[in-house]
Amino acid sequence: MIKITDEKSCSGCYACANVCPKQCISMESNSEGFWYPKVNEEQCIDCNLCEKTCPIISKTEVQSTPVAYAAYNRDEQTRMGSSSGGIFALIAENILQNGGVVFGAGFDMGFNVVHSYVETNDALNTFQGSKYVQSKIGDTFQQAKSFLNQGRQVLFSGTPCQIGGLKKYLEKDYDNLICQDIICHGVPSPRVWGKFLSECEKRQQSSVNHIDFRNKSDGWHNYKMSICFENGNIYKKSNQNNSYIRAFQQNLTLRPSCYACVFKTLHRLSDITLADFWGIESVVPDMFDDKGVSLVLINSDKGKAIFNAVSNKLVYKEADIHEAIKCNSAALKSVCPHPKRDYFFENLEHASIDCLVEKCCHQSVPTRIVKFVYRVGSKLKRMIIK
Ligand SMILES: Cc1cc2nc3c(=O)[nH]c(=O)nc-3n(C[C@H](O)[C@H](O)[C@H](O)COP(=O)(O)OP(=O)(O)OC[C@H]3O[C@@H](n4cnc5c(N)ncnc54)[C@H](O)[C@@H]3O)c2cc1C
Repeated sequence: MIKITDEKSCSGCYACANVCPKQCISMESNSEGFWYPKVNEEQCIDCNLCEKTCPIISKTEVQSTPVAYAAYNRDEQTRMGSSSGGIFALIAENILQNGGVVFGAGFDMGFNVVHSYVETNDALNTFQGSKYVQSKIGDTFQQAKSFLNQGRQVLFSGTPCQIGGLKKYLEKDYDNLICQDIICHGVPSPRVWGKFLSECEKRQQSSVNHIDFRNKSDGWHNYKMSICFENGNIYKKSNQNNSYIRAFQQNLTLRPSCYACVFKTLHRLSDITLADFWGIESVVPDMFDDKGVSLVLINSDKGKAIFNAVSNKLVYKEADIHEAIKCNSAALKSVCPHPKRDYFFENLEHASIDCLVEKCCHQSVPTRIVKFVYRVGSKLKRMIIK
């Protein structure tokens, strides 16, 4: 039976809980707010399916190397409502048009990030845009399998470890399944997200009614989290002044497995991988307008077919794979934990997120000046190219 002795060796993908024939594995949050499997040993029949299905314990090797494209959706509204080039929405619309089902990460009523599925275009916007929190898979692998067995086309979108878990759970290749993953920096703790939101609500004395992690109204490079409240107020700060995003970007709040991610490779398990095409202004300058360009990796024939099917609605150009990921280290390398990560989680109960992040990520004046000069320099360069 599955026993997690090293937190780095579990990505919380829920594959073991979904596969257990006795439903005796529950996923429980630890003190940091990350889910880990807990086996009810009395009900366990030692079938060992949980271990066999774990995408980290029994890893699948892939040989193919992707073809890379820079691409964006010609539909301006969809593009601006997406994190990078709005490619996910385009692929999802195609699947729905063919009577298929789309699985992805959206908010529940309490703004927790959870996986679910949609069957209509109107519902699709719940999945659009990155949510920088670990998404709860729940029993969506079982739901996806049921749709696949009915012969419906299924698009499943998630982090590389979630796609790894789904594929292990399904055991076989389904022709009617398309998997789309992302190049993933790492996933922050749902507990930290919940605490950050409740502190925002307390300050505003009002409930949240809309969240956009990546509002691009000030430009794709200059994206900002925006939170709208019932009282009409809007929280919108630059990433340097948003403690939640600062903690995410400085690797303070990520899941332990993200610091030793086994899915960091160009040999991807998914059919199609999406990411931000950082560095587009140097690699394909004529596509740069600061509204968002996706890096699209085509990893399989199925990925190629779906990309071709939507290509008339795209502006796109093939790119050299190594050039394409040059500014995206998350494609191949895990980040290191922030040196004060333990301190942060040990004090999470008693201090506010703003206060803890300021303490852990405080930068000296010279460092701040160097970063400011670098930011201004990059901005000027982009303005000249535009
Ligand atoms: C936690 C996280 C880390 C990321 N790290 C990087 C990175 O280091 N480098 C990089 O280039 N890109 C990264 N991305 C991907 C990037 O932000 C965009 O999602 C990607 O470029 C696709 O953009 P899009 O405009 O085509 O579609 P969008 O509409 O922006 O993409 C939405 C898709 O992302 C999925 N999604 C959103 N939140 C989550 C989540 N919490 N868990 C699983 N799936 C989710 C949705 O289901 C949907 O399918 C990350 C995304 C997430 C969620």
